[in-house]
Amino acid sequence: MKTIYSAEIVSVGTELLMGQTVNTNAAFIAGELAAAGIPSYRQSVVGDNPGRLQQVLSEAVSRAALVIVTGGLGPTEDDITSECTAAFLGRKLVFDETSADRIKAYFSDSGREMSSSNLKQAMIPEGSVALPNVKGTAPGVLLEFGTDLGPGDEKIIILLPGPPSEMRSMFSEQVLPYIESKAPVRMRSEYIRIFGIGESAAEEMIRDLIDDSVNPTIAPYCSDGECMFRVTLTKLEGAADDDSSLLRIVQEIRDRLGEYAYEVGNRSLPEVAFDLLSERNETISLAESCTGGMIGAALTDIPGSSGVFKGGVTVYSNDSKIRLLGIDGDLIEKYGAVSRETAEAMACSCMKLFGTDHSLSVTGVAGPGESERKPAGTVFICLASAKGTVAFRELKINRDRNGVRRMSVLNAFDMIRRELSGI
Ligand code: AMP
Ligand code: MG
Repeated sequence: MKTIYSAEIVSVGTELLMGQTVNTNAAFIAGELAAAGIPSYRQSVVGDNPGRLQQVLSEAVSRAALVIVTGGLGPTEDDITSECTAAFLGRKLVFDETSADRIKAYFSDSGREMSSSNLKQAMIPEGSVALPNVKGTAPGVLLEFGTDLGPGDEKIIILLPGPPSEMRSMFSEQVLPYIESKAPVRMRSEYIRIFGIGESAAEEMIRDLIDDSVNPTIAPYCSDGECMFRVTLTKLEGAADDDSSLLRIVQEIRDRLGEYAYEVGNRSLPEVAFDLLSERNETISLAESCTGGMIGAALTDIPGSSGVFKGGVTVYSNDSKIRLLGIDGDLIEKYGAVSRETAEAMACSCMKLFGTDHSLSVTGVAGPGESERKPAGTVFICLASAKGTVAFRELKINRDRNGVRRMSVLNAFDMIRRELSGI
């Protein structure tokens, strides 16, 4: 059996080179390969040009055992991936009867006329296996071949359709099981997600564990205010299926990071806060100023949110704070719209307005300019419940406008999860 030691990803399409389409296919496949423990060292993007495509294929095949190509399997003239792959290998394109039948059925099932060019998609390189496309017409192609690069230099090329939904389902359902059966190692990763502490401070708390980590390895990831540590255990072929060392390290990291660790697993901070509310059968409402509905949007992203989230008001102007929430104009006059006092009044009256167990308010200066002589990034968040204000934060966020708003959203969910978990 061939063993896949490393992979490369080739993305085909002039639209990718011109910046019209974001290369989400490569990102998806790279993430899946990483999770499956297949190293992937390079990615290439190439336009719909036969010479350059064959050159990129040849370079990728010379380096990696597995080359995954997406795009260019469509019915039009500029879709040349199958032809170029066949030409590169010195093979003919052959007509795949089963794929042709599937393409015809696809059109008749959806009541559409099939043009003759669609049958071009049933032409695959000789000696390859067609991968059925359940979401579209172009079949994928799996090609195993030997090379004269040296003994054991057997290679695999996999061609996948460009449209992301077709590519993803084909990858997950057909390609991944195939790749996993050929990988020499298996990996298991766990993610410890943290909020409220910077990456370097968090790393300091587990510095010795990181320095000593060989297998499992510990790797930090940070993006957009959210940080996590990935712990990965690599199990070599034939090794016992024992995850205890991974679980031990995960527990140790979690214990050390304490209150900052909000999740071991895949849930986001909003999901963790949501689940805590949901488990207690408690409801929440929102009074948002500088976040303009972003907290509500994050909550309603979660399926089942109607059981927890009753509604919210976007009270961007002083006037709407007064009219919709009944905030005392004198209070705003005295302390400012961006103040602890206004935030508390917003949360308390929002809770009454919606009749919820909790209400959260945000008021701040998103920037870039200052407001009420408060610098951009000044944000007040208040969480109220039957007891009155139960949590309050005054933030000074040193980011651009969008960053200020995003960090405000994350802080809001962090306040909810801390309050409900008694931290
Ligand atoms: P194609 O199979 O090359 O005809 O591509 C069909 C469509 O899939 C294109 O119009 C793009 O919208 C999309 N697509 C192709 N390649 C990619 C990619 N690497 N990432 C995201 N979308 C892609
Ligand atoms: Mg294309």
